[in-house]
Amino acid sequence: MEAPVFIEAKSLVKNYKRIQAVKDLSFTVFKGDIFGFLGPNGAGKSTTIRMILSLIRQDEGDINIFGLPLRKNRNRILTGIGALVEEPRLYEYMSAYGNLEMLGRLSGKSISRNRIMEVLSLTGLDERWNSPVKSFSHGMKQRLGIAQAIIHDPELLILDEPANGLDPKGMKDMREIIVRLNREFGKTIFISSHILKDIELMANRMLIIDHGAKVVEGNVQELLNAAESDLKITVSEPDRAVAVLKDKLGLTDLIIDHEGNIVLKANREHVPEINKLLVDNGLKIFSLTPVNSLEKYFLDKT
Ligand code: ATP
Repeated sequence: MEAPVFIEAKSLVKNYKRIQAVKDLSFTVFKGDIFGFLGPNGAGKSTTIRMILSLIRQDEGDINIFGLPLRKNRNRILTGIGALVEEPRLYEYMSAYGNLEMLGRLSGKSISRNRIMEVLSLTGLDERWNSPVKSFSHGMKQRLGIAQAIIHDPELLILDEPANGLDPKGMKDMREIIVRLNREFGKTIFISSHILKDIELMANRMLIIDHGAKVVEGNVQELLNAAESDLKITVSEPDRAVAVLKDKLGLTDLIIDHEGNIVLKANREHVPEINKLLVDNGLKIFSLTPVNSLEKYFLDKT
């Protein structure tokens, strides 16, 4: 049985004066998804997220969340959503604990000490719970932003490039928190990024947009496997290697690039066969790197 639909966007259009930022965009997020929302800078990700959060209104199209039309059920829907868009709003002179306590006070709901400590522990900030936020690194502030977004225990989390500006360790920490929120706490997560690898490492489904329009939507692994790859091979005796590949596998579409690497078109599943053939023919392989067409697309774009 298919999981319930949490977000259904139907033919969204958003125009700014001269720019059509979002063009006829439809997609579906299911309960339990980590849904990666990918696109190069300026693709229309933030605009789409703002429409989902009802911060701006679409010019055309509809959004249903938790099975309800957003237009008519804004408040009811938004209480079930936690969001981090752009930089989190933080009181720099207050502690991490104080910031979360203040958020509870402002929303008129008292949040227990236990809940605050639980959320700080989940985001890896428990040891620094009492330190002023102004002493925090960028990564810690982003994690406190996640803590703010989940404090009221929402079912759906919407995160707009939470890993932006983080170093590789910070990005890894962020991914681990997101995966844990999904696996252990059952949260559905809609997360945007302009880095395919980042999404590949955590999301089960993804949507890629470019110039406001959908490029592709589907299961992450299926899309990556189906996408054609260029395979780059660094090998001893490239000329002989090319002859072997042509002769034994009947490959025609292959070249030797200016660095002496062989570049050919191949799907991921053919990589082991190519590897074995070259080794069996006494060739030394120094590296063999599939460059997925989706990866290539993002490398070219960013
Ligand atoms: P980034 O990763 O750089 O934030 P994005 O994918 O989130 O990019 P958007 O911020 O949604 O993209 O922008 C989509 C397009 O709409 C861009 O061309 C942008 O310049 C334009 N745009 C966004 N907000 C406005 C606005 N308030 N007024 C006019 N144009 C806007």
